[in-house]
Amino acid sequence: MKKLTQLMNFLTKLKKEKIKKDFHKYQAQVTPYPLEIEIKRAEGSYIYDTDDNKYLDFIAGVSACSVGHCHPQVVEAIKKQLDKYLHVMVYGEFILKPAVDLTKLLSKNLPKELSSTYLTNSGAEAIEGAIKLARRFTGKKEIIGANNAYHGSTLGALTLMGLKENRKPFEPLIPEVNFINFNDINDISKITNKTAGVILETIQGAAGFIEPKNNYLKLVSKRCKEVGALLILDEIQPGIGRTGKLFGFENYDCKPDIIVIGKGLGGGMPIGAFISSKKIMNTISDNPILGHITTFGGNPVIAASALETLKIITSSSLMKEALKKEIVIRNILKHELITEIRGKGLMLAIILKNSTIADKLVIGAKKKGLLLFWLLIEKKAVRVTPPLTISEKEISLGCKVIIDLLDEINKDVN
Ligand code: PLP
Repeated sequence: MKKLTQLMNFLTKLKKEKIKKDFHKYQAQVTPYPLEIEIKRAEGSYIYDTDDNKYLDFIAGVSACSVGHCHPQVVEAIKKQLDKYLHVMVYGEFILKPAVDLTKLLSKNLPKELSSTYLTNSGAEAIEGAIKLARRFTGKKEIIGANNAYHGSTLGALTLMGLKENRKPFEPLIPEVNFINFNDINDISKITNKTAGVILETIQGAAGFIEPKNNYLKLVSKRCKEVGALLILDEIQPGIGRTGKLFGFENYDCKPDIIVIGKGLGGGMPIGAFISSKKIMNTISDNPILGHITTFGGNPVIAASALETLKIITSSSLMKEALKKEIVIRNILKHELITEIRGKGLMLAIILKNSTIADKLVIGAKKKGLLLFWLLIEKKAVRVTPPLTISEKEISLGCKVIIDLLDEINKDVN
């Protein structure tokens, strides 16, 4: 019996090594140091690996799993749709109820000017759509982005990546894109009559969860109106309830001309959307028609998942609770190695004294069953972006792991 168990364990180990090898050999890699957790299942705020380790998830698929993993209502909505039909025709030709209902519910929850939604496959694709819309509607070419911004990895979105070293290797990118400093009031004058659109993240994510300050977005919006440019807000990360409001811009007294959403809308499925007025949106269906086309945008299964996710978030107290949970996190995460907690609601970043501490924290937390992750640009930061459905008890548990780890790291440093 003992020998049989030993043999079974040996075979399981071999299988695991094989899949890890295959992962590196066959699945394209973008970093030399992936987390390499082999997932067995995920539920609520937890992810389980094939060794039956349980991880409390403070990443939430990089702010994407807004209602937790495998929310039963979302899974049910997907299953119901699976039984009816999957993909049937390219975007916009057939009437698919889940997609129509989703765009209607989005519109109901937005200012009346933002009434028309184009559903895409990803956030980056929606950014591309927004760039095209701004150029077509204004008849101008210049797009202004912000330094340290991130809007996605396709060529147009990459052009707006506000970090030169990440753009440079892929040049030539799209022409007539210029940059301003986020939150810099003096830079607003760089938006001129030549500008078609200004694209900003409502809260800068990769840069370190930097909120707009001193009416910054309102002033940019005013300037855009003066010069006939469109203000495009990237709500892909702050949107869908994460900051205590359904859309981040509602916190900052500003009305964009176009918003771009994604991530948290999908309930765990891939989605993006750009939203604007009917008048602006009409420019991509006229002269030439088919101004933006996509095969799978508005896919009925994904739309069903997103619709249910949006229903859950808009009909519950999850948004309000995000602000209460922020307070819990801020109250516990006090440590001499933490210089600041930035962000809003459940879009928070722990800013550490240096990047080595951030690295040790992310890697050490994984060993203690807590999933943390870095930000793309600000290397001293570690994200705390759990599902909105996380309980206060789970938050306390995770934050305690962070504090204990920082104590250990501090001991090693001294
Ligand atoms: N914009 C922001 C602010 C993001 O955080 C991301 C993804 O991390 C994107 C755009 C790109 O979205 P996607 O990865 O769905 O293309």
